[in-house]
Amino acid sequence: MGDMNFQGNFKRVGSFDTSELKRLVLGLTQEHWLADDTRQKRYEVHKDTQFIGLAYDEDFRHTHPTRRPALDLFGPAIQSLLAQIAEFYETHPETFAKFQKPVRGYFIRISLAKLVAGGKISIHQDKNFSLTHSHRVHLPIVTNPDCWFYVGKERMNMKEGEIWEINNRRMHYVANHGDEDRVHLILDWVFPWEPCCCADKVHPGEPCTPKACADSVVLRIPCDCHPEEADVPLPV
Ligand SMILES: [Zn+2]
Ligand SMILES: [Zn+2]
Repeated sequence: MGDMNFQGNFKRVGSFDTSELKRLVLGLTQEHWLADDTRQKRYEVHKDTQFIGLAYDEDFRHTHPTRRPALDLFGPAIQSLLAQIAEFYETHPETFAKFQKPVRGYFIRISLAKLVAGGKISIHQDKNFSLTHSHRVHLPIVTNPDCWFYVGKERMNMKEGEIWEINNRRMHYVANHGDEDRVHLILDWVFPWEPCCCADKVHPGEPCTPKACADSVVLRIPCDCHPEEADVPLPV
């Protein structure tokens, strides 16, 4: 996979028929969406978002995710999606090249994220151990032609059913200029002990751990692993 900070902004993982998922999402009420508002209250960048965790922990742990009640509702509709994404990563030639053997991974977080009509997620880089050591995958379920995802210098209008990994180590930004709320399923895929891009520089010969990577995950040590593409876009 290269690594989580891969050479590029967006990586196409595949496609998925979202019709059943969309039916379930459109059946959710405001009560469902507002039941857990910790995330939008705690993080300024998430103030225009609403969020439902299927597998989610507020401490952003990196192993042993907690299954949430919403997984009972959405599980059957995403089972084959999970298998498809797992297969993409586990059978990718770069995975064998990197680990020199077959490796099994797991999803550490799965959640539904709504970005309200007219809303934005202001520019940021993901900065915690688990987010910088997992592959962040987006599947649009409800979107519109005026919803833009910016990563690095690139912007994309992701279409319903397209599965994309985004390089969350780069500056990113989302703007929904449409009249409808946007809903994505977001999945974080982990290969146990996959080193982050800065590993060789920051702790050569040692595996990544929250302690070993403490300075690099919060960018106290700047990440210049792909300097040619590190330029920050101007939010539009
Ligand atoms: Zn690391
Ligand atoms: Zn790096």
